[in-house]
Amino acid sequence: MNILVINCGSSSLKYQLINSETEAVLAKGLCERIGIEGSVITYQPADGAKEVTESPMPTHTQAIQLVLDALTNEKSGVIKSLAEVGAVGHRVVHGGEKFTSSTLLTAEAMAAIEECNDLAPLHNPANLIGIRACQELMPNVPMVAVFDTAFHQTMPEEAYLYGLPYEYYEKHQVRRYGFHGTSHSYVSKKAAELAGKPYEEMKTIVCHLGNGASLSAVKNGKSVDTSMGLTPLEGLIMGTRSGDMDPAIIEYIAKKENLDLAGVINVLNKKSGVLGVSGVSSDFRDLENAAAEGNARAAKALAAYNYRVAKYIGSYVAAMNGVDCIVFTAGLGENGKATRKDICAYLTFLGIEIDDEANSVRGKEIVISTPDSKVQVMVIPTNEELAIARETLALV
Ligand code: AMP
Repeated sequence: MNILVINCGSSSLKYQLINSETEAVLAKGLCERIGIEGSVITYQPADGAKEVTESPMPTHTQAIQLVLDALTNEKSGVIKSLAEVGAVGHRVVHGGEKFTSSTLLTAEAMAAIEECNDLAPLHNPANLIGIRACQELMPNVPMVAVFDTAFHQTMPEEAYLYGLPYEYYEKHQVRRYGFHGTSHSYVSKKAAELAGKPYEEMKTIVCHLGNGASLSAVKNGKSVDTSMGLTPLEGLIMGTRSGDMDPAIIEYIAKKENLDLAGVINVLNKKSGVLGVSGVSSDFRDLENAAAEGNARAAKALAAYNYRVAKYIGSYVAAMNGVDCIVFTAGLGENGKATRKDICAYLTFLGIEIDDEANSVRGKEIVISTPDSKVQVMVIPTNEELAIARETLALV
């Protein structure tokens, strides 16, 4: 069966068509600037040239219509007709406490997702718009929602409760949820395969280090802690997000910089992290280059980033009372060999030793620790689209 995987944002939409038997990506691409002038669709068939076409997309329905037209195009399409799309898998950011796993998109499920909108006001409404647009254009195709939060719903109370008045949890569902769950689940399972051990008997720490970044502690096949919270702002220092900080800073900065609450939160989401510290970039390639050329703030940003990751790893060793395996994934985790090396240098107390030659390999599953290392350290490329396709297949 061919499964269309959709990741819909407020003005962009990423898609992949995946054959569920071979798990091959038949075509992929994205629509950008939906609802804005100068909309562009990118379409890349597996064995053809990438096409970038400017085309008006006033609504998400028109964007998805263009995706379906590209997939079925007589010349460069990869399927003859829409009858060859067996199911659609949608990434949905927030499932609150309602969704502990993926779900078939019935009318009840749609209503329940809508009830989670307040928890992710920038993401969930956009995800729902994408779902409705697909339902309009493919009314008879089954659709599934795969949630970023679902994998972390196994966290115990002591991990998800904030030190806040308990009624905020009861009345407003203020608790830690965590994100990147599809990636943490996929990568921790792969780590067990690579280690040759049962998933249900492993203690794994997954470091998902991309533009957004989070860690998870996965014990016996279940997420028991993760670094993002009610929103993706908590935890690690990220590309542009601050991560953990003293909450009193919000009022202090508001006064000093003459900002309102929304203004400060915008700074914490978009102008902080390694971008804010370095003043150079949120991209680690730029930071590494700048640091190598002697830019002191870029070096400070990298050092603070690595330290925070190492500190979280240490706390998750405590959370699980041990660790068998530490895995690096996502853009920086998969490619940043200096980052991996610097983070692991904090962890020699765990008996971790890195094999420099293995650590230089890019883009494939590999153990980067030495055979004598007390904890296995791995690089495993994440594949959220494939994980969504697998979940979708399982439900339809
Ligand atoms: P992602 O969000 O998973 O796509 O990761 C994107 C981030 O990965 C970028 O912002 C870069 O900072 C980082 N990245 C990608 N390639 C490299 C590389 N070759 N070296 C260092 N960092 C990289």
